[in-house]
Amino acid sequence: MERFYLCENCIKPLRIKNKYKSDIVSLNKNVGKCIICGGSSIDISSHYNILQDIVDCIRFYYPVYRYFRKDFPFPYSAYFPHILNPYIFEEDNEILTKPLDSQSSKRLYDLLDDTTNIHDIEIFDIIRSDKYKILFEKLSYVAHMELPLKEADSVLMQMMQNDLRNHNYYEVEEKYTDAIASIISEFPQININRKIFYRARVGHHNESIAVDDLDTMIDFPYIEEEMMAPPPYIASSGRFNRQGCAFLYVANSKTTAIAELKPYVGCVCSIAKIRCRDKRSYLDFRASSLPQIDDKINIVTLNIIRSFASFFHKPAVQDNDYLTSQFLSDIFRKLQFGGIIYDSVQTKGYNVLSYYPSDFYCVKKSEKMVEVKSVVYKINDMQDGRNKYEHWYFNDEKIEEKYGSDT
Ligand SMILES: [Zn+2]
Repeated sequence: MERFYLCENCIKPLRIKNKYKSDIVSLNKNVGKCIICGGSSIDISSHYNILQDIVDCIRFYYPVYRYFRKDFPFPYSAYFPHILNPYIFEEDNEILTKPLDSQSSKRLYDLLDDTTNIHDIEIFDIIRSDKYKILFEKLSYVAHMELPLKEADSVLMQMMQNDLRNHNYYEVEEKYTDAIASIISEFPQININRKIFYRARVGHHNESIAVDDLDTMIDFPYIEEEMMAPPPYIASSGRFNRQGCAFLYVANSKTTAIAELKPYVGCVCSIAKIRCRDKRSYLDFRASSLPQIDDKINIVTLNIIRSFASFFHKPAVQDNDYLTSQFLSDIFRKLQFGGIIYDSVQTKGYNVLSYYPSDFYCVKKSEKMVEVKSVVYKINDMQDGRNKYEHWYFNDEKIEEKYGSDT
């Protein structure tokens, strides 16, 4: 193998730098001049771990079609590893501190091509010889190829959603439970036993009382059990629970607990402190807890964890979203977790979903009433549909008369 000298100072990702620090590297006898800075460097051509990490980082930061040769049409390019496109290293890139000249760039690519699986694109549960079918049949897969792994939904997620559209959940449950069980130890997990959270409900009590001779009405918050999850027999299905399953939702702050109710201004709510006595681990999908590319975690697993997290962070929009979140919920529960923790869409806080409401209790005398003083809205500009096309007109003549057309 031709030698290739590249020192750790000329590599950007910490993930790769850390590989240099391993003992194996320090034993390397072949020291030469780094191709970028000219400093003393090891020969990376015999260090599979370093080469594989360079490839993993390319996949993380660049969509597949960018690291295959441009003039060879996708998806064919995915099957011909010898035509890798070396141009990423010739530009400012996410891997090296400085671009390489085209000859060195080609040499580095040849080295990666010979020693790693840069072209062995992982597809969950699909054997390599079947890959071409998927490429043509499944648009979502093409979308995956067009995004870098750091932005793409995991293929596992896409296939799960597709399977749930076409099968009863219990027909595919074992397959996905096994797949997730094999990587679950890499997922961030925390213990929340003894922690205090908040739970809110719209409304309060209003009861008549007698004060000496005077009859009057007083307001007071919902009390104790009234602040907890409804019993299973009246629980309707929700984002994470099937009909007849009662899960408990609590938040880390009063504001988040209230915001999750999406109340109107002036609305009066009851709120209480809820203490956890569940000793199980909870899966932690908060952005601040997620593994990064610089962690040791396998890049495909990283992609799966991040796509689950972004799914939980989004409000559910399609019916299928409920199928998916209920399905994942079942799997996590079967794998012995107490529930999941995820960022609130409404505030900067977070929510806890517990599968075991009886392992939480309302802190005595903590119930209070609160009034919603204001609600904050965030808006984004959207495209005016009238500017999207040229030479168009409204199909309905009356609407055409009123709003005109583009022609
Ligand atoms: Zn260097």
